[in-house]
Amino acid sequence: METTFIFVKPDGVQRGLVGEILNRFERKGLQVVGAKMLRVDEDLAGKHYAEHEGKPFYPGLIKFITSSPIMAFAIRGVDAVTVSRTLIGATNGRKADPGTIRGDFGLSGGFNMIHGSDSIESANRELALWFPEGTLEYDKSSNLWTYDPS
Ligand code: GDP
Ligand code: MG
Repeated sequence: METTFIFVKPDGVQRGLVGEILNRFERKGLQVVGAKMLRVDEDLAGKHYAEHEGKPFYPGLIKFITSSPIMAFAIRGVDAVTVSRTLIGATNGRKADPGTIRGDFGLSGGFNMIHGSDSIESANRELALWFPEGTLEYDKSSNLWTYDPS
């Protein structure tokens, strides 16, 4: 089992897509082990997107992420990091495959509705940053019928 970090960006919240997006993770069988809505300040945005500092889109990205509330989730499951990135799709909504969140709902490179950790290392760093209080531990009974035992 892995835990990954996702958040619905300001455009997704403003467009009323939080439920639609979360539904994709739930119906896939993934487990929600943390959730919170917040307005991101520049400090948190800068720490989260530190790897992109200096790139041309960075100032706009920080402005965007801090512009309006977001909704963050910790998501757990087998290979949760990779599975979540597959559900999310390519960065640019115009290039993302249909069936993915970005492919189904977006037309933008920057306003792409959702973030998802890109590796286990990123997930661990981002979970520590966004959920310093930790995530929940509880049994999801449907896991018995979601994962085969092998
Ligand atoms: P992700 O892992 O698919 O979210 O993409 P990246 O880690 O490469 O970039 C982080 C975020 O920065 C993206 O989700 C976009 O919101 C934004 N971004 C990345 N590349 C571009 C770009 O070329 N133009 C704009 N406007 N935003 C970008
Ligand atoms: Mg990324």
